[in-house]
Amino acid sequence: MVSRVIPVDPFDLVIFGGTGDLARRKILPGLFRRFIAGQMPPEARIIGAARTDMDSAGYREMIAGAIDEFGGIDTPPAGTLDAFLAQLEYVTIDAKGEAGWAELQELMKGTGRVEAYYFSVAPSLFGDLAERLQHWGMADVDARIVVEKPFGRDLATAKALNGTLAKYFNEDQIYRIDHYLGKETVQNLMAVRFGNMLFEPLWNAQYVDHIQITVAETVGVGGRGEYYDKSGAMRDMVQNHLMQLLCLIAMEPPARFDPDAVRDEKLKVIRALDPVLPHHIMRGQYEAEAGQEGTHPSYREAVGDPRSKTESFIALKTQISNWRWSGTPFYLRTGKRMAARSSEISVVFKETPHSIFGPDAGQHRNVLSIRLQPNEGITLGVTIKEPGPGGMRLIDVPLDMTFAEALDDDAEHVDAYERLIMDVIRGNQTLFMRGDEVEAAWAWTDPIIHGWEARGEVPKPYDSGSNGTTDSHELMRRDGREWRKVSL
Ligand code: NAP
Repeated sequence: MVSRVIPVDPFDLVIFGGTGDLARRKILPGLFRRFIAGQMPPEARIIGAARTDMDSAGYREMIAGAIDEFGGIDTPPAGTLDAFLAQLEYVTIDAKGEAGWAELQELMKGTGRVEAYYFSVAPSLFGDLAERLQHWGMADVDARIVVEKPFGRDLATAKALNGTLAKYFNEDQIYRIDHYLGKETVQNLMAVRFGNMLFEPLWNAQYVDHIQITVAETVGVGGRGEYYDKSGAMRDMVQNHLMQLLCLIAMEPPARFDPDAVRDEKLKVIRALDPVLPHHIMRGQYEAEAGQEGTHPSYREAVGDPRSKTESFIALKTQISNWRWSGTPFYLRTGKRMAARSSEISVVFKETPHSIFGPDAGQHRNVLSIRLQPNEGITLGVTIKEPGPGGMRLIDVPLDMTFAEALDDDAEHVDAYERLIMDVIRGNQTLFMRGDEVEAAWAWTDPIIHGWEARGEVPKPYDSGSNGTTDSHELMRRDGREWRKVSL
């Protein structure tokens, strides 16, 4: 099956932080893949902007290296790399000073194209950039800004940041990125829920036993220790990525698939979330592990603080107080240095009310699993009779919708970032977080964090390569449930 690629309108995309890690690993390789796919019009310009003194030729060389290293394309079609690089320019600029702004203004003057400014810099520079864009006449009503995470570290800082951006840009110009929302499966989750009659009647507390969301990473904090230790799993993952997934699973059907209709429904979910009770939160820090390439340090060693109280793992149970979900627990868990890199949402249905096959046949629950990585896809566990003459014994078989098999290569390999950047150019905010959504998520998160700080709780150790702390399994077991295995 070959997907149709419709080129977007001609655009100018300025990437502040164009020399940084995110730009080199994700944004520019992603744009190159869109170029190869024929989605980037030849008039489009990508303008890298950072303090490093360099000309456009030097920047093209840097990005050619980045595409080679991170692009995931063995041999680009002949001529495509040079043609793409020819659309790149570079401006040496200081977000906090005056250097480079006149040059950027000159480049952006009256082009008549879509104008987008990607803030791929530390959040402390967002306000400076917004202010200077306005000062230099680049914040007109058609301009769009793309803002990276983290969006604040609590409700107060998120409000302050929203307030600063609102001084210069309208809400419909601000694209707050959560790259989880750009994943193929996340959009497919909405297609499966709202495009089929099959699931919606069962999508409620009457038929769903519980929902679990796991985002497991195998990597540790690596070189980001200092940053991560000020944040932790709750701020870094739960407040944004897991919360967004929970919203899409739990929200009511929006009236239309348009940005505000979808985001209004997500906001209602966040506002209906119950506070989390202290004994429903389990936090952990990974231990050191001897590996083939030497010993991986423990969390505390990696962040350089033997008394750190920041969690690299968290599991919690929450509820949504509304008609659809009252009584259905939602279990969330995420952590570093876990057994496998795996992100999965599982909707676990209730058992049938009565088994007609007797106690020996076994009883199973249907589970709809939505896998975000690896191997994006959706699996529905269905109970059937075990084949053969051995009597009426029941087994589970998966109905598998692995997208790699069902779709063409291009659709599968569209990375979340390139999809989201194309949405910015199209002016579609559906997959971006609105300011009030972000604030509501912090309003739920803040008391949880303040609670464990006030109680002086210290995260429990867990083995690297495991599925998290022992008490996170207890959290499930005491409800008569268990976590699904973290596996590839
Ligand atoms: P990074 O590697 O440290 O890059 C920072 C960029 O900002 C560099 O290009 C730097 O270039 C530029 N910069 C710093 N000060 C500047 C100034 N005063 N004026 C203009 N440019 C300046 O950071 P990153 O990892 O790319 O992250 C960028 C943003 O994305 C951060 O908000 C981060 O939280 C977020 N993010 C990153 C990732 C990721 O995978 N890396 C994932 C999610 C979110 P010069 O030194 O040349 O100025």
